[in-house]
Amino acid sequence: MNDKPIVLLTHPLPAEWVGSDLDGYQVILAEKGQKGIQGKLIEYLDRAAGILCLLDDPIPAGIIENAPQLKVISNLAVGVDNIDLAACNRLGIAVGHTPGVLTDSTADLTVALLLAVGRQLVAASEDARQGKWSSWDPTGWLGVDLKGATAGILGLGKIGSAVAKRLAAFECQIIFTNRSPKPEQARSLGAKQVSLETLLRESDFLCLHTSLTAETKGMIDREAFKLMKPTAILINAARGGVVNTADLLHALQSGQIRAAGLDVTDPEPLPPDHPLYQLKNCLITPHIGSATHGTRKAIARIALRNLALGIQGEPLEHCVNPQVYNHPG
Ligand code: NAP
Repeated sequence: MNDKPIVLLTHPLPAEWVGSDLDGYQVILAEKGQKGIQGKLIEYLDRAAGILCLLDDPIPAGIIENAPQLKVISNLAVGVDNIDLAACNRLGIAVGHTPGVLTDSTADLTVALLLAVGRQLVAASEDARQGKWSSWDPTGWLGVDLKGATAGILGLGKIGSAVAKRLAAFECQIIFTNRSPKPEQARSLGAKQVSLETLLRESDFLCLHTSLTAETKGMIDREAFKLMKPTAILINAARGGVVNTADLLHALQSGQIRAAGLDVTDPEPLPPDHPLYQLKNCLITPHIGSATHGTRKAIARIALRNLALGIQGEPLEHCVNPQVYNHPG
């Protein structure tokens, strides 16, 4: 009989990232194509000490409540909106995440999306490939200038601040909206904190970097698009659910805004027949904000350390609900 603690792993990880970190556990790996805790993983749920999962693995209350031995859920991501936190708090289960290490790569991708959309890189490249580059055209493939434009950041956390820093270097004026006041960051970035309404009205580029919560779900909706400039570009590298997808589709089709660059969508993945893919003014990437070799490995290393600490009953390196250490259970 195997008496090692049981870990449910929802997706395989490269051996080079894992090293010997999982040697001390009985690892139960999900079958290919399954998301969350399903199939074989369900059979082991009542004995599992830890879950190592991805941001698109739903971990609802029903799963958490049926795992009496569970000590830790370690998410390979910074956002934990896929996990029922209230159930974890109630049952004293630590939830680990991986902030910080993906800040720069996600900020880089945000700027890449903005430049790609703003300068029509995909359309221009496609036209060149298709033989439509017959001469230097003074009015062909015109884009927008970053210098002097107003860049609005919704959510001036780690990634939002890193994006603001990058866009300030392009000589954009930076405005931002954040849940709590950020006077220090405003000063150091030369940025101004404004109301959501002002952010929507004044931004030439609106970059979303808030976490997805009950409050931010659907925050960028029909009413928000009505306030935005018809020349505005929306970039979402936060979570798809911050934007109402039907309202975004309408805004792009009707010219309420100029264009959008989306690294995240709702639903995710966006089905191949979704009408957003048909729009020339919408560029979609498949949630690749943190997808660099170095960042993804660093994320995995933190998630593995969080898992080990949680199973040992030690405080996690990065825990979203540290109050569970005072849990009576
Ligand atoms: P973070 O440092 O926690 O920043 C989140 C920011 O959102 C905080 O400043 C927070 O305000 C703000 N916020 C929360 N609710 C708000 C509201 N109602 N109105 C305005 N601002 C609000 O997290 P981060 O590391 O920057 O990551 C941000 C998000 O990016 C993550 O939650 C994740 O969903 C997403 N992400 C995406 C990718 C990708 O691959 N595309 C990669 C990494 C992360 P306070 O200062 O008041 O807390």
